[in-house]
Amino acid sequence: MLKSTLKKSIQVDPQKGYAIQKMKPGIYVLTDGVWQSVVVVTNKGVVLVDAPESLGPNIQKAVAEVTNQPIVTLIYTHTHIDHIGGSGHLKNIPNLEIIALEGVANFLREKNDPKRLLPTKTFTGAYVLSKGDKQIDLSNPFNFHSDEGDLFVSIAKDKFLMVIDVLTPGYVPFKDLDLSSNIHEYLKVFDQILAYDFDVFVGGHLTSIGDRNDVLESKEYVMDVYETVKRVHAKTNLMEVMSGTASKIGWDNKFLLFKVFLDKVIDESAVEIESRWIGRLAGVDVWGRSHASTMLNYVRWDD
Ligand SMILES: [Zn+2]
Repeated sequence: MLKSTLKKSIQVDPQKGYAIQKMKPGIYVLTDGVWQSVVVVTNKGVVLVDAPESLGPNIQKAVAEVTNQPIVTLIYTHTHIDHIGGSGHLKNIPNLEIIALEGVANFLREKNDPKRLLPTKTFTGAYVLSKGDKQIDLSNPFNFHSDEGDLFVSIAKDKFLMVIDVLTPGYVPFKDLDLSSNIHEYLKVFDQILAYDFDVFVGGHLTSIGDRNDVLESKEYVMDVYETVKRVHAKTNLMEVMSGTASKIGWDNKFLLFKVFLDKVIDESAVEIESRWIGRLAGVDVWGRSHASTMLNYVRWDD
């Protein structure tokens, strides 16, 4: 593991199972070491952003460690169970307001999953939540990660920004470029993030919180994956690779012949990417090949 990445990590006591740490006045990150949610304490109650499934049983306990204010509002950043599947543990809270994008709410109504409480207030585009002394701006300029909708959660006065499942400070993105269902939009999200004025960034995973440099470094990594795969794909001749393999096994198994070509592009790209990033971002040896594979789908079929 990269020492620089480990150094930035919030320590989680394995006995306790979570840590809650102040990032800004009244703004805390709650993590169990793998998932993160954000707790915003106002003088009119607590606003929670996301309720990860793994943190569900500990959320109310953790909030009570930092304030006597009750939890009054929950915001969903997107539909994924790992980020909101702990909300079922909050059903004891009377009149809990749950805010989400209309697309997220429609999906959750269809799913009817007891682990994910249904939103009580929905919106499209943007929504401003003014709660006591905090103003939280929610915005969905486009969907960069999930099909139903993703949010930018900004508290401008505190230079705080939360965007889930794009990047993990200190690490390369998660598998398949953070499981993004739309790489075209994912490639644009970094500039959208950088357009905000912030100095604290929460990405939703592992234990570190980030800043602008983490976003810039992740953008550089993802653009390097894009340029590398594009170049290697352009110089690799499909018919040459297929003929080379066909001379040994014949032409009948076309899927296999084509896979040999795709694997050659992915493997060559992954070796290059790893050599450049192994000392800079953790996890490139784990997910670099997956990123090259996801990017090849985009470069060959969409770009
Ligand atoms: Zn997600």
